[in-house]
Amino acid sequence: MEILFLGTGASVPSRDRSTSCIALRSGSDIVLMDCGEGSQRQIMVSPFSFMKIRAILITHLHGDHILGLPGLLQTMSLMGRSEPLAIFGPEGFSKALGMMMSATDGDTFYTVEPRDVAPGDSFMVRSLRVSVFSTDHGVPSVGFSVSEPDLPGKLDREKALSLGIKDGPDMARLKRGEAVGNVRPEQVVGPVQKGVRVIYTGDTLRSDSVVEASRGADVLIHESTYMEGDSVLAKEHFHSTSRQAAESAVEAGVRCLMLTHVSGRYDDVREEVLTEAKEVFEESYLVNDFDHFDVSPRSIRTMSS
Ligand SMILES: [Zn+2]
Ligand SMILES: [Zn+2]
Repeated sequence: MEILFLGTGASVPSRDRSTSCIALRSGSDIVLMDCGEGSQRQIMVSPFSFMKIRAILITHLHGDHILGLPGLLQTMSLMGRSEPLAIFGPEGFSKALGMMMSATDGDTFYTVEPRDVAPGDSFMVRSLRVSVFSTDHGVPSVGFSVSEPDLPGKLDREKALSLGIKDGPDMARLKRGEAVGNVRPEQVVGPVQKGVRVIYTGDTLRSDSVVEASRGADVLIHESTYMEGDSVLAKEHFHSTSRQAAESAVEAGVRCLMLTHVSGRYDDVREEVLTEAKEVFEESYLVNDFDHFDVSPRSIRTMSS
């Protein structure tokens, strides 16, 4: 799974940062998570095609997470999209999107299917399983877990041949987990490869439900609006500190933490923001617009965009 950060700012865009938007790509399918103002232009200057967006996941209705939707949806219509597009958001989302689209005269030639989701819901986007968990942001809000399917183990054909199995239906039966004669599948088929799982919190206070949803995940993308010295402000505004995000990563046992949505007040001390997280959890990254990662079960590589 690839992760491309299209907007990493908090609340307002800046010269260097757009507002919240993250693209996940698995095969050629793209799932967009949040769609702040300016997201469509960010996609246009990225290596991803917005015509390959199969679904959009919205964490909450604050403008820095949804104001990019009307423009993006209308542009896709002008560019000839015909495939229906499902957009998932928390309670009240369908109504809000309807109002935004009618206020901007935003009819589309393809079908937009807005759906309100609740914690505990789970659904498929092509081969990806999306699960919804609760977050704590003072308004209706949710986070998303996106998983690739597990891949069957690799068949060792040479070994199977040496055990007397012939190419054809018998090989296929072993691959499906069936024994052939006295050859058992575990003798010739490797272990199942776990699909990559990515968690995105959107905006939230430190939350037990985030930790629960993130257990054993490959990547936790956690908001990190404040530093620990401003933890009172973080609490007041229903946001997290970088230390709290790192503590959740440790508790959940994730492979890696990606911090986003950092307040512009820390622009000159972003190294300190990262250090605060790394002191708690070494595998922490502080992401910028257009940071692009390739996450496999064995490695997490940065890619140039
Ligand atoms: Zn926000
Ligand atoms: Zn918010």
